[in-house]
Amino acid sequence: MTIFGLLGKIMPYVKPYRGLVTATLTLTFIGSLLAQVNAVVLDRTVDAVNALISDAQFEWTKAMSIIAVITAILLGKEVLAALTTFAQRYFGERMKIMVSRDLSVKVIERMLTFRMAYFSAEDNEPGKLQTRIDRGIMSLSNTVNNFFIDILPLFTSAILALVLMFAANVYVGLVALFIVPVYFIITSLQASRLKGWRKNIFGSRQQLSQGIMSIIESITVIKSFNRENIEAEKQQKLQQQITEQQLQTRKLGFLFDGLKSFVEQIGTVLIIILTAYLVLSGYPGMSIGKIMYHVMLFANVSAPIRQLHRIYDDMNDALIYAESFFGMIDADDEVEHTGKYKGAVKGKFEIKHVDFSYPNGNKALSDITFTIPAGKITALVGLSGAGKSTIVNLLDKFYTPSAGSIMLDGVPLEQWDTAFLRDNIGLVLQKNHIFSGTIEENILYGNPNASHDDVVRAAKQAYIHDQITLLPKGYKSQALQLSGGQQQRIAIARMFLKNPPVIFLDEPTASLDAVATEQIKNSIDAIKQGRTVIIISHNIGQIIDADLLHVLENGRLVQSGTPEQVYAQGGLYKDIFDASARSMNVSKIASVMNA
Ligand code: ADP
Repeated sequence: MTIFGLLGKIMPYVKPYRGLVTATLTLTFIGSLLAQVNAVVLDRTVDAVNALISDAQFEWTKAMSIIAVITAILLGKEVLAALTTFAQRYFGERMKIMVSRDLSVKVIERMLTFRMAYFSAEDNEPGKLQTRIDRGIMSLSNTVNNFFIDILPLFTSAILALVLMFAANVYVGLVALFIVPVYFIITSLQASRLKGWRKNIFGSRQQLSQGIMSIIESITVIKSFNRENIEAEKQQKLQQQITEQQLQTRKLGFLFDGLKSFVEQIGTVLIIILTAYLVLSGYPGMSIGKIMYHVMLFANVSAPIRQLHRIYDDMNDALIYAESFFGMIDADDEVEHTGKYKGAVKGKFEIKHVDFSYPNGNKALSDITFTIPAGKITALVGLSGAGKSTIVNLLDKFYTPSAGSIMLDGVPLEQWDTAFLRDNIGLVLQKNHIFSGTIEENILYGNPNASHDDVVRAAKQAYIHDQITLLPKGYKSQALQLSGGQQQRIAIARMFLKNPPVIFLDEPTASLDAVATEQIKNSIDAIKQGRTVIIISHNIGQIIDADLLHVLENGRLVQSGTPEQVYAQGGLYKDIFDASARSMNVSKIASVMNA
């Protein structure tokens, strides 16, 4: 991305604040005019004082009136300048805050529309996304701030100073003008040398924050295995890498800064020598005051140029961060696909020759063909990693098959309106999906318009109501503080509240105790009536109730039929079934129960 590209990208976010922009620009111009006052006053003062002291009839009254005029002008100018700077900075900062707010609202809105594959890509791990968003917003709003508070005022003042220098004397103007491009060349050389380093630092920063997130997420494992040292070492290595990169950038930066300082001093010396020569040789219009005048004007020309590298650095940061930030905002192909079709959902899924690989290349499904009948219970069976959850992911349109087709009630899945489809599917996953918030808020996620009574009814159906009432704050308690099994039942209550015609249950009782499992089984049995249910479970007790089984092995379909038929065929299902019965010690349980 180029600087102009960057400004073009930011413009739409600045546009709504036209009023602020106009105010800032006007103040900028006034500020630039005021910045030249000192030079003009000094020029006139030196000449007036000089004339006065060379005059044989020196008069104090004249001297006092000169001093009074200077004082009035300089003080007046300072008061005006202070007011202008205050207003200009305030408006600039206001704009920065507004733009930063708009950018962050936009990027989050945008991110929410992305398909699941975006979030499972390695480049988009949570810590990396967070850094990308934070840094992006920070450096982009800094660019706005830089532009209106630093660049514009400084450069307007520099251009005005240059015009005044040319007006005073062409040669002096030329010397000042000659220094400017030299400065620019050095600065852009510096920027291009530093660009790679800065990009590396950004990459390392993303890794670092991802690392910190994963430490917090796995703190229990780290502590239980006493692996604090290993984790600290990993962080240390990353830090060391960043430190080296930072030191390198600083070293290069200081080197170039020295060079630029030198060029600037040369400029000042040249201006002094040239003006002194012109004054001494009696060049028309050249008085002693002009030496001060030119030096001060040159300071106004070189001030912004001295800032140039910092602005350049900020700009370069913004270019790096903006690329990945606007990469998110412009990622149209990451936006979730939706069709237009909305029809009463019955729940017959026809899956034909479906292949699927995850974004990281993991092949999860190969040539899967089967049907899930409407209004029936279908169980997906297989060992861990066989591809069962992946099928649920595809049926809920979280991912799109790499090959083959999926139809729901005779309509291709991609033609269904995605939001409508998901309104009609209830999903209970093996990992609890509880948000930070109260129990009531979490259950209400199933239907934000439901009443408190509806919430209580759903909680009762999920066998969690009694436990909730025992909590000191009841339904207003924090849901994240509940146990795994309780959280699971909150998720099930949420599904009861949603009341959809199609239900996917992915290990819904995995983290429940035996009593809760039975209770949930009863309430799931109740909700199953007249609905299409797809259940994934390692619990044989839940599977044998299914009307139909599909058995998966390594991403392929190996058996299909009623539980009895599939068991009679032998093979993987029989192995799983028998192993499950043995692990439960069924014969011993039976003898204990009969005794
Ligand atoms: P199951 O539900 O039968 O235990 P899954 O459908 O979860 O199996 O996984 C099938 C395969 O896909 C596994 O090899 C798993 O490692 C892989 N997989 C699952 N989720 C992802 C993901 N988000 N990214 C990459 N690979 C995945």
